[in-house]
Amino acid sequence: MAHVLGFPRIGAKRELKVALEAFWGNEIPQGRLLAIGRELRALHWQRQRDAGLDFVTVGDFAWYDSVLQTSAHLGCAPVRFGFDPRALTLPDYFTLARGDANHPAMEMTKWFDTNYHYLVPEWSSDTRFDGGVEWLFEEVKQAKGLGHPVKVALIGPLTLLHAGKIKSGLSSKLDLLPRMVPAYQRLLARLKELEVGWVQIDEPLLGLDLEERWLAAFPSTYEALAPSSPKILLATYFESVAERETMLKSLPVSGIHLDIVRAPQQLATFLNGYPESKVLSLGIVDGRNVWRTDLDAALASLNPARERLGERLWVSASCSLLHVPVDLGHEKALVPEIRQWLAFAVQKLDEIVALKRGLGGDGIAPALIASREASASRMRSERARSDAVRRQLDTLSERDIRRPSPFAIRIRKQRARLKLPLLPTTTIGSFPQTPEIRKARAAFRRGALVREAYADAMRAEIRRAVARQEKLGLDVLVHGEAERNDMVEYFGEQLRGFAFTENGWVQSYGSRCVKPPVIYGDVSRPGPITVEWARYAQSLTEKPMKGMLTGPITMLQWSFVRDDQPREKTAFQIALALREEVLDIERAGIAIIQIDEPALREGLPLRKRDWGRYLDWAVRAFKLVSSGVADETQIHTHMCYAEFNDILPAIAALDADVITIETSRSDMELLEGFGEFRYPNEIGPGVYDIHSPRVPDAGEMLKLLEKAERVIPLERLWVNPDCGLKTRGWTETEAALARMVEAARRMRARAATREHHAA
Ligand code: GLN
Ligand code: ZN
Repeated sequence: MAHVLGFPRIGAKRELKVALEAFWGNEIPQGRLLAIGRELRALHWQRQRDAGLDFVTVGDFAWYDSVLQTSAHLGCAPVRFGFDPRALTLPDYFTLARGDANHPAMEMTKWFDTNYHYLVPEWSSDTRFDGGVEWLFEEVKQAKGLGHPVKVALIGPLTLLHAGKIKSGLSSKLDLLPRMVPAYQRLLARLKELEVGWVQIDEPLLGLDLEERWLAAFPSTYEALAPSSPKILLATYFESVAERETMLKSLPVSGIHLDIVRAPQQLATFLNGYPESKVLSLGIVDGRNVWRTDLDAALASLNPARERLGERLWVSASCSLLHVPVDLGHEKALVPEIRQWLAFAVQKLDEIVALKRGLGGDGIAPALIASREASASRMRSERARSDAVRRQLDTLSERDIRRPSPFAIRIRKQRARLKLPLLPTTTIGSFPQTPEIRKARAAFRRGALVREAYADAMRAEIRRAVARQEKLGLDVLVHGEAERNDMVEYFGEQLRGFAFTENGWVQSYGSRCVKPPVIYGDVSRPGPITVEWARYAQSLTEKPMKGMLTGPITMLQWSFVRDDQPREKTAFQIALALREEVLDIERAGIAIIQIDEPALREGLPLRKRDWGRYLDWAVRAFKLVSSGVADETQIHTHMCYAEFNDILPAIAALDADVITIETSRSDMELLEGFGEFRYPNEIGPGVYDIHSPRVPDAGEMLKLLEKAERVIPLERLWVNPDCGLKTRGWTETEAALARMVEAARRMRARAATREHHAA
């Protein structure tokens, strides 16, 4: 059998996004939104059938998020909203996702190591699994009505439970399991009544480091579900589950799915003594990346399984196709040579079917030939190869990733050069991206504005930003990043080895999509990227101006990365290109250079045993960018919105002179980690949350600074917001920054009196 674990729901042209936003804006009635959802599902199922899959997958559709959708099916919406779970309406569901005047939205977090964000279920002793919406059953009826063979996909109970957060009254999430299981039983029984033959239950949780009690919950849970359920295919992905082999093989399910793109070695483990009664579904087409599958290699990996299992072998993608763009067919501007290397969701369906046919010995000759040609072209491509970059990387030594002097010496020289006050104030880089800026960029892209006119508009923007910062009395200025559409795309567009799609959208959360660049070849820098902007900005002021770059790990993490060499190799190539940029900025007379790495934490592997290796190369890549400068040049980095306490040693190992981090949401809790760890260099804990239009008063920020002082000595503290300000308006930005500067002044004044008294 050939099948997928899920298909992107957003639509090749983001039709669902457009419809959702129109509905939220009261531009279309609910009936119209429902109709668009129906049409998209029908289209996506038809795609699966046309390709030749044996099932269509139902249940992968969600109005906002699949975890929230599952909660809606089970009738377990967060209690604090006060909705009747038996009668949850679509507007209620959107209120859970987006909040309203009286209820903050449910929290959002990343789904495993993807860039997809789910809404975090809220568990408490009051949580009930009661009733639930009819949507899934309606979708099943829709698919059946269209004549499709149906497999339903659901997020599994243990993964769902684990994905939530305890809000109150529970000592363990597992305490809710006895209430949750009957809800799943009801749901599965209804599916059986509807004559659904197979249900795919996703338990990616099995790929994580798990406490024994979570693992122990699997057998009893599935023993409770199996009797009332359609046949169960238990789906694992993103990691090896080889360590859980014995338990998985003995579960009362009819099949298991393995991700053999991420974890190919586990196949042999499972094949050895695989139960006669079970199907094995192998995810061999990459659901996390955009490269065309090498069908010869894939067939070679699948063949031993075919010999052992015969018809019990199913072929699929590694995970849901949610994480790749929809259809390469809509890419008209990509260079043909690069285009032939790629496969988006629609193309992956064909690959899955080609593999199934290949295993059965029927004709896949044309597909095989095309795949061979594409692989050969990729291997031989001149466009993708730079011998100069490779030679340069080979000659790097440890000296290239170490600053000439230790921090204690550097900071003395930097202080002498910069002459900053105690508690220097600064911002993270971007200023409001006003409609005028966007208009100018769009006109430039369209060709309606010539390069020089566009540059003039951006320079005018920089002048305004500098004037505003001077007036506010900030100590270290930024140019404001007006010329950047996106912090990764902007650099990618000016580096070799990156390609950009027109419609390569991937859902990030709700109606929001991202269009990750494609790193297809060796990365190098044809010329300076930011230097002229930085030089111009510095020419407008006596105050130090920060040069501003996106770091190599963030560039990697927010792109589709080539899979024909280790990720770290690509990271070093990006780092080398950025190192040249850093040196050019330094030569232009800029004294402070910030290298942003907000995605350092999210690149962490799922299993702790792999953390060390990743952090080692990630740190080396950063240091390759930052270590070529003189002692007198101050290197900053910035990170935000992640749990940093468990990677503090690596953050310290970056050896940036200053780190600015987002902390205000956790009321500086994060900073305590830095204190306990005795973070050695300077640090700017964010003193206000940039995600809210609320302007905090100086007193609030002062309190946060006092808290910070308890863990980091004043001499090593900076004062700044949590993150960049590009999503805010100027009025609130100026008001908030004025108060931030005021808070820093008051703090300095206190320190001065204290010193006076001491003397
Ligand atoms: N310098 C970037 C900005 O200010 C940093 C953005 C980020 O951390 N995501 O927008
Ligand atoms: Zn940030």
